Amino acid sequence: MKTEIVNKEELRKLFLEGLPLAEIAKKLGSTYGSIRTMIYHERQRKPHEWPLRINYPGKSAEPPLMMHLYECQDCALDFAVEDYEDADHSATVCPICHSDEYLQERGYGQFTVTSAPLREVT
Ligand SMILES: [Zn+2]
Repeated sequence: MKTEIVNKEELRKLFLEGLPLAEIAKKLGSTYGSIRTMIYHERQRKPHEWPLRINYPGKSAEPPLMMHLYECQDCALDFAVEDYEDADHSATVCPICHSDEYLQERGYGQFTVTSAPLREVT
């Protein structure tokens, strides 16, 4: 196995410029997989230096939202509630029957807004 030496400063600069990982790999003489792994590990160590880049086709970047997902079993309805800092989720009710009696919390996570239905990115 050959050892790949990639200049991390250079990698980070290209990364922050928004270059696709495949392009970065080509410029640094590495491979897409290695670059991705390297960024992943660097992000574990210094998350603030490696902001998540979210690309969605044809749309400008919007910040990912933290959402609570609920299901009302009575209405067979799934809905999501944005998680604000001061949100009182104990007051969440089903938008159809206005009751929390049949509410089930289905999950919590980070979502991006796309033209497609909500997609979990965690
Ligand atoms: Zn309901």
